Amino acid sequence: MRFSSSTVSAFLASAAFLSSPFSCQAFSPISQVSTTTKMKTSLFSTTEESKATSGMSKKKEDRLNFMKSDQFHRRGFKEVRSQVEQDIENQFQAKIVNELKESNYMIENKDAGVKVYLAKDFGFCWGVERSIALAYEAVQHYPDRTLHITNELIHNPEVNDRLTEMKVNLIQKVGEGQKDFSTINEGDVVILPAFGASYEEMEMLDKKNVEVVDTTCPWVSKVWNTVDMHQRKGLTSVIHGKYGHEETIATTSFCEDYICVKDMKEAEMVADYMLNGGDKEEFLKYFSKAISKGFDPDTMLTKVGLANQTTMYKKETKAIGQLFQKTMMKKYGPAEVDQHYMEFDTICDATQERQDAVSELVENAEKYGLDFILVVGGWDSSNTAHLLEIPHMAGIRSFHINRAGCIGADNTITHRTVDGEIVTEPFLLDLDKDVVMGVTSGASTPDAAVQDSLSQIFLLKQLKKKQQS
Ligand code: SF4
Repeated sequence: MRFSSSTVSAFLASAAFLSSPFSCQAFSPISQVSTTTKMKTSLFSTTEESKATSGMSKKKEDRLNFMKSDQFHRRGFKEVRSQVEQDIENQFQAKIVNELKESNYMIENKDAGVKVYLAKDFGFCWGVERSIALAYEAVQHYPDRTLHITNELIHNPEVNDRLTEMKVNLIQKVGEGQKDFSTINEGDVVILPAFGASYEEMEMLDKKNVEVVDTTCPWVSKVWNTVDMHQRKGLTSVIHGKYGHEETIATTSFCEDYICVKDMKEAEMVADYMLNGGDKEEFLKYFSKAISKGFDPDTMLTKVGLANQTTMYKKETKAIGQLFQKTMMKKYGPAEVDQHYMEFDTICDATQERQDAVSELVENAEKYGLDFILVVGGWDSSNTAHLLEIPHMAGIRSFHINRAGCIGADNTITHRTVDGEIVTEPFLLDLDKDVVMGVTSGASTPDAAVQDSLSQIFLLKQLKKKQQS
């Protein structure tokens, strides 16, 4: 299986992994960090201290200082590593998925009458593997402490259930954007999930004097470095992402001026305002939840930098980038465009590879004779949701399920549509006929979830065959 102990060990042991290339050194060299202050008082700098530090924003300086504390852990705990690796192997191993990979990504279950084509890249990414390993190691390393996690570790029900079994307390949400941190006491251990934690949460944890185990994916930190660079250059960050997504909440917390656009339609609204102005009140009302405090579109859309949530649809991000570039070119002329628009691609490799692989399945759908494509992954998982969009846009019947139980013994399927609705509908159109299907899974989906889903389909078909014989 891909979740090999050596891979995880390599992630955790490698110091290089935690710096280059993800630290965006070109923008903000680590060597510029000011002398570390210890956690006895507060690691968060005052505005005056910040002014004295050149080359990075106060928020970034605070974040880096916080990360230097002895109570901040991001490299795991070696003494429990082998035990955790075994636990992970046991939890996530998947025989059918291994067979699929060994048989050139295609298997046929003749008894059931089902042929399966697996996307060439799918399932757990290294960022998620690393996050799970770090969290499980924290549980073993602190057997007598109270452990908390500030959000779901990743968007996967099995992994989150496992952490609950391990008595890791999930910080509860209370109202929109609010969480109840009152259960965290001095000396407790707090795990930060793969999509990171906001500046305000880090500041609060600093004051509470707790041990922090940071599992933030370095690709997410790369986005934070990018928006920091925007701030330093006096640019407003335009973030292609969902303003309510945990990763984007963390990213925007490191910005001064920002606006989030979730898709091309919203990007066009912003581009139109950049070029032609418009009804400011209407604009602010529409984007009220997606902008920084005191946002003024008349003054803050003249110089912008684009960044994106790591898991967005790559093609859309590219198109949005081109739109803003053209808009600035129209408004200020080709010679001035670089003064008004800057773009860095912060989509992670894992997202891109999984999107490319499902595109390949889609391109071969006719050749393979695919009846449908199954996408397995958490319903809150942004990268999984984008995997569904690709076959959907190509007009291929496709379903996004979050666990095997979504496939009912009565031949129904409960799935999340591209519009975010959860619906139940008839599944296999003709149970008497053989089925050819494609399958993929999101970056936070264990292979075991794919295996269980395939087993459920095999069972459904086999039951029908038995009834007929
Ligand atoms: S999908 Fe990308 S950003 Fe998210 S955890 Fe995986 S590697 Fe990191």
